[in-house]
Amino acid sequence: MPKRPYNFYAGPAVLPHEVLEQAQAEITDFKGIGLSLMEISHRSPEYEEIHNETQHLFKELLQLPEGYHVLFLPGGASLQFSMIPMNLLVPGKVANYILTGVWADKAIEEARKVGDVYVSYSGKTNNFTEMPSLKDIQVHAQTDAYLHITSNETVNGTQFHNFPAIRNVPVIADMSSDILSRPLDASKFAFIYAGAQKNLGPAGVTIVILREELIQHHTAPLPAMLDYRTYIKHNSLYNTPPVYSIYMVNLVLKWIKRSGGLSVLEKRNEEKARLIYDTLDQSGGFYRGFAQPASRSLMNITFKVWNDELEKLFFQEANTQGFVGLEGHRSLGHIRASVYNAMPYEACQALADFMKDFQRRYR
Ligand code: PMP
Repeated sequence: MPKRPYNFYAGPAVLPHEVLEQAQAEITDFKGIGLSLMEISHRSPEYEEIHNETQHLFKELLQLPEGYHVLFLPGGASLQFSMIPMNLLVPGKVANYILTGVWADKAIEEARKVGDVYVSYSGKTNNFTEMPSLKDIQVHAQTDAYLHITSNETVNGTQFHNFPAIRNVPVIADMSSDILSRPLDASKFAFIYAGAQKNLGPAGVTIVILREELIQHHTAPLPAMLDYRTYIKHNSLYNTPPVYSIYMVNLVLKWIKRSGGLSVLEKRNEEKARLIYDTLDQSGGFYRGFAQPASRSLMNITFKVWNDELEKLFFQEANTQGFVGLEGHRSLGHIRASVYNAMPYEACQALADFMKDFQRRYR
């Protein structure tokens, strides 16, 4: 294998190298059947085994209590922005959203098209550089249909480092950019969702984990493909699921297990992110981080070079030295290093070394 670029894209994003190699080895002949998994029915025993095993792996890695379903949906996490209120925002109730950045904002925008929404916390006043502290999160048990949070703001580079234990209102979390990056007490959530293309695999499938009782109050008839009950009833096989994406997620989950599970990944993710945050903090203002230290994301590290002209040069040089995907989201600009589970420590070390060297030459 020739040396590959250091891949800091925010999503689709880096995948474990050994997973790519396994997929390559199996692409024309899946487990000796002489065909690719892409070419066989989603009702075949070979595919069904992958499907059920993938659900099981989620349950195992997240230690999901009884009563949760693991579903595979199309449409990205963005479709969930609409499906959640369509299914769960019952008449007479209001949906409670925590506005923490670009992605929470999009979720709110879609929910408003469906029903009554209120924003019980907004990070607008701190320019979305901070996550709320737990005491800032308020719910109203009588009237809230649910509370929606975004565990990691991929664009802003902020992350919740602990979650409220709210029992009287269902808590829903968009975990698209940090699912399975650390151990989680899943019992705090009635509903978790994540597009696969950051920590789980390629784009094409969205994981929805929901507690059975959550959907029992819902009354409005919905198109089958927009109704969670369809996916539960048919075990996410009502129509053809994105079989290849699910297969890739399966390989990634097995890789997580082989790597030692979520606590090992968490430790590794902390070490990787620290390499880069320490570089920012020790730069004397040459590099400036976006997030407040207590809310820093271990997945998406957002920062800038103090001078815009120098920043252009930073991108040019980073590019020639084999770093890709460092450009910040179009809404925020500047630099974003995404360092998901599959990002090797060596790549973070290489970036930190490059940053120090760049500063030494241009300070
Ligand atoms: N939520 C978050 C936190 C995200 O990072 C993203 C994608 N970057 C989305 C939602 C939207 O996901 P998708 O593109 O799968 O619709």
